Amino acid sequence: MSLPMNPEIFALIEQLSAEHTLSFSDYVFLIEHRSDAAAAELAKRADAKRKEIYGNQIFVRGLIEISNICKNNCLYCGIRRDNHSCSRYRLTEEEILYCCREGYDLGFRTFVLQGGEDGYYTDSVLCSLIRKIKDQHPDCAVTLSLGERSRRSYEMLREAGADRYLLRHETADAEHYRKLHPPEMSFDHRMNCLMDLKELSYQVGCGFMVGSPYQTPQTLAKDLKFVETFHPDMCGIGPFIPHQATPFAKQPAGTLELTLYLLSIIRLIQPNILLPATTALGTIDPKGREKGILAGANVVMPNLSPVSVRKKYELYDNKICTGEESAQCRGCLSRRMESIGYSLATDRGDIKK
Ligand code: SAH
Repeated sequence: MSLPMNPEIFALIEQLSAEHTLSFSDYVFLIEHRSDAAAAELAKRADAKRKEIYGNQIFVRGLIEISNICKNNCLYCGIRRDNHSCSRYRLTEEEILYCCREGYDLGFRTFVLQGGEDGYYTDSVLCSLIRKIKDQHPDCAVTLSLGERSRRSYEMLREAGADRYLLRHETADAEHYRKLHPPEMSFDHRMNCLMDLKELSYQVGCGFMVGSPYQTPQTLAKDLKFVETFHPDMCGIGPFIPHQATPFAKQPAGTLELTLYLLSIIRLIQPNILLPATTALGTIDPKGREKGILAGANVVMPNLSPVSVRKKYELYDNKICTGEESAQCRGCLSRRMESIGYSLATDRGDIKK
């Protein structure tokens, strides 16, 4: 980490910029031998590549956290089934439509409905909701982030009008996946969901936490190889942050430094990718999201959920933006982006092919 950039690392950065790919072992090397100088070089190139395609426009998505009820028991997640100290909620269709209307007036043209795997949201409940959103806001994109569902379900939601789906793969290493999830959850199933989503012509987002327990340079190299071969439209990465009521309560958080490094690498792998500067990044550093943009990210996702539930959707400790009204969240992010020479776009923010 403290070593100055050696010529070998510089050559790898040049190769990655030109060819958008490195071998598995070169990714491991690039991660293991990183330095401040290497990070600065990667960020400079990532920022330039992104500007070539998207100028100084940052895309914005309104995040609506529709439910924190979840049947799963992921070891890292604050809304896991076994966290009995979590106070559970579920938004009604009315409340969600209200958030969308409010968001629309604030300039949002993408709504992300995210939540735990809550059995209340059957296909018919979701299809009716999606149809209403698309009906009321035909110029908006609807993104779902509701976990693993059957192919048939994804197909019906797509037919109802959903445009995009975010399903982080969490780790591209099956053994690592088993250390982060209970035995009833399967790596293959999650990967199959991602393949299904792609075949159903969703714009698909994968992603992973940086610094999750048991992560190594080798598992990260697999994540990068996965991004290279899967060609996602989006990739959500943010630091792992422990939640006090999970089995990983005492694990260290992921770092700002490694998250920024990986954002730059992913931008260079796929220059047109949609890459959010996440709320988790803003949580571990007060300027985390700005630093994320400067390292190559081009999406921010301010919170549109009703203020009364924001604290309850607590995937990790000390989540930011839980007290502000939606308008404040948007205004704050807009000012933050302007402070570093970027501006928030008011359109759907589709990927440029
Ligand atoms: N149930 C949905 C949405 C999950 S929440 C799904 O399965 O996709 C969105 C993302 O938050 C997760 O994919 C995970 O990568 C991230 N997350 C969960 N717990 C976290 C933690 N403790 N620190 C940082 N990110 C976390």
